[in-house]
Amino acid sequence: MVEIRLTNSKTRKKEVFEPIDPKNVRMYVCGPTVYDRAHLGNARPVVVFDVLNRLLRHVYGSEHVTYVRNFTDVDDKINATALARKEAGAEGSLEDLIHERTEETIGWYHADMDALGALRPNHEPRATGYIPQMIAMIEGLIARGHAYAAEGHVLFSVGSYADYGALSGRSVEDMIAGARVEVAPYKRDPMDFVLWKPSSDDLPGWDSPWGRGRPGWHIECSAMADDILGEEFDIHGGGIDLQFPHHENEIAQSCCAHDHGGFARVWLHNEMLQVEGKKMSKSLGNFFTVRDLLDQGVPGEVIRFVFLGTHYRKPMDWTEKKRAEAEATLRKWSEVAGRESNGRPDEAFVASLAGDLNTAGALSCLHQMFSVLEADWNGADLPDGTDIAATRETFVASANLLGLLTPDLGGWEKRHLTSDLAALAEHLTEVRAGAMIMKDFSEVDRLKSALIEAGVEVRMSKAGVELLPGAGFDPAKLEGLL
Ligand SMILES: [Zn+2]
Repeated sequence: MVEIRLTNSKTRKKEVFEPIDPKNVRMYVCGPTVYDRAHLGNARPVVVFDVLNRLLRHVYGSEHVTYVRNFTDVDDKINATALARKEAGAEGSLEDLIHERTEETIGWYHADMDALGALRPNHEPRATGYIPQMIAMIEGLIARGHAYAAEGHVLFSVGSYADYGALSGRSVEDMIAGARVEVAPYKRDPMDFVLWKPSSDDLPGWDSPWGRGRPGWHIECSAMADDILGEEFDIHGGGIDLQFPHHENEIAQSCCAHDHGGFARVWLHNEMLQVEGKKMSKSLGNFFTVRDLLDQGVPGEVIRFVFLGTHYRKPMDWTEKKRAEAEATLRKWSEVAGRESNGRPDEAFVASLAGDLNTAGALSCLHQMFSVLEADWNGADLPDGTDIAATRETFVASANLLGLLTPDLGGWEKRHLTSDLAALAEHLTEVRAGAMIMKDFSEVDRLKSALIEAGVEVRMSKAGVELLPGAGFDPAKLEGLL
């Protein structure tokens, strides 16, 4: 059996992964709050934990892995967007508009993440489907002396849980200073956090022992993980921005709700995403959604490839250069190796991935394997005994394990090629016709050398201009030629 090693944020060590039950390996990942399109940074944990899900399925068998990712469909931001629509004159009750908004956003999310080649989790629970479980958990916490009701709210008493702060390794004082905790008259301690809050008549609410209200954000993950995966399970994942307070609060709630429940054994956190070395933000003008990129013609597979080039525990920098390189590489790989395989992934490749999800190392293995296929493609002599067909099968099977070169994600490489090159061939034909009249071929020469530089084979004859992609074809270099 392949040995998987993962860096556990809880122990701050790289550990050999040993599932509680190898017949049912269980993972929970915090999902999106569904009020708007996912931005590029939201997609990073999706790809990171998709790779882990694929690796677990490869090692333990796809029927022995349970992957859960929630949708937060009750939230003040959702209420605000629905209210704004209502004020703008939209038909229907606020509740209808909220429902419409969350349904629409979940549809977008599925479409965008499918485009990145992320497998859908086994369960995608929605918070609104688990209100009774949340109420039951909150009642249990009150009964055990870990929570208290005050003015229609229920609060978790942080002082009642000695291990609070252990995940992020901070003292309660540091947390108070860093988190700008809300001081409210109904709180016994400023660190106490909300499990339940009252809803006014114009906001979504559910009847509860504390009056009509709605759950706090943290309790939903605890209640849904408990209901679907049990008191204790293997892996909990999410972005590093969720470590405090969200994950710290999940642990406090879940551990205090049970006598022996240890909640998640291994915690994994992915680092954040930047754009061209800067934090992505609306004020810097470098904010974009996954859909923006897809609409600009950047294939989802290319986005995925760029993400995989950086280890999940390091900040990932999205750059135009990486995008162009990823596109050229994938184009070449799919052209030479195709997308179908009945083979098994390469062992060194799997070992690399199993070493704390070293996706960059796994990509290096793929580059190495591909160099043999490329040499053969270019007609080079290969060492005796090289089995090209077997190498190709292994190469594609390995890429598939990373969610690359899957048939589902294919097609874009041909689409781009034909449209770009056909338009350029037409343009060059016109420029050449003009040059013959003016007896000035400088523009023809300029275009021709730029095309050759981009790896395009240029064939000019009396019959016309023909442009063909060569071995080193890099479509990114075609930009600006038209
Ligand atoms: Zn969560």
